[in-house]
Amino acid sequence: MHQAPKWPSASTVVVGVIGNPIAHSLSPLLHQAAFEALGLDWVSLGFEVGPSALGDAVSGIRGLKIRGVSVTMPHKESVMALLDRISPLAKALGSVNCITNDSGVLEGDTTDGPGFIEALAHGADFDPMGKSCVVLGAGGAARAVAAALGVAGARDVAVVNRSPGPAARAAAIAGPAGRVGRASDALGADLVVQATSVGMAGTESAGRLVIEPELLGPGQLVVDLVYHPVTTALIDAANRRGARTMSGVGMLVHQAALAIERWTGLQAPLGAMWEAAAAAVGAG
Ligand code: NAD
Repeated sequence: MHQAPKWPSASTVVVGVIGNPIAHSLSPLLHQAAFEALGLDWVSLGFEVGPSALGDAVSGIRGLKIRGVSVTMPHKESVMALLDRISPLAKALGSVNCITNDSGVLEGDTTDGPGFIEALAHGADFDPMGKSCVVLGAGGAARAVAAALGVAGARDVAVVNRSPGPAARAAAIAGPAGRVGRASDALGADLVVQATSVGMAGTESAGRLVIEPELLGPGQLVVDLVYHPVTTALIDAANRRGARTMSGVGMLVHQAALAIERWTGLQAPLGAMWEAAAAAVGAG
């Protein structure tokens, strides 16, 4: 006897995330939480795509009518040459983390920086306009954050990094507010963002600090982009010094929420996505 199709069916809309490695990615989990909350017949999958397969993978997005994919390491830069359109922000940053397939036309965008700004607003009621900010690190996440703080009207965006070349490039992306800074700039800054990989669970630097806690204190917001563990040594130290703190879970959720909104045209269910992220990383 014929039964009504169950999920997934032949009409289920497919999205996903491409990267290498991919098994650790929380994107499918966050996307799926959103689709379930929205009652959409959609599915999100992780696709392990090595560097030599990137061209085939992008052709597959078109050929299989995949609605969109998130992009993670190592493809955020290299995928740009394969797309039809690049948003101005992604172009300025030289990085794409979200591809939307509009009837075969692939547009690349970046939701990392805008997701960070949304996380500041929702999680800490913090508006960067006119504020002094310090960004620790100069990698992909740091550049996205520095650019977003510049766009959001920060008065000063000091990029602090071990090697000056990458710091200068990240500072330039922040626009007129950007400059290469030093750790002592954190003293009295309105916002301090830890955007290095220091402190990540399972790495040599787990439990380490990237800045002296004495530079942090009341009146400041300290954000650690590392979300595993949720309470890093820096978050712990900043709390003890009387600063307000925010974990990387906020940016993780909001960058994914912006992708969901681009693909579905619907408002992302932040509560459901937050719950899924918090359960996955062990946050309360
Ligand atoms: P990346 O490899 O591009 O950059 C890493 C940065 O860390 C570089 O500037 C490097 O110089 C610096 N660094 C590494 N070890 C250091 C050390 N011992 N001392 C000082 N600086 C050091 O990586 P990325 O993509 O920019 O990611 C950085 C971190 O941000 C990672 O932990 C990642 O998980 C996190 N992240 C979080 C989110 C989120 O949504 N919360 C999004 C992107 C990245």
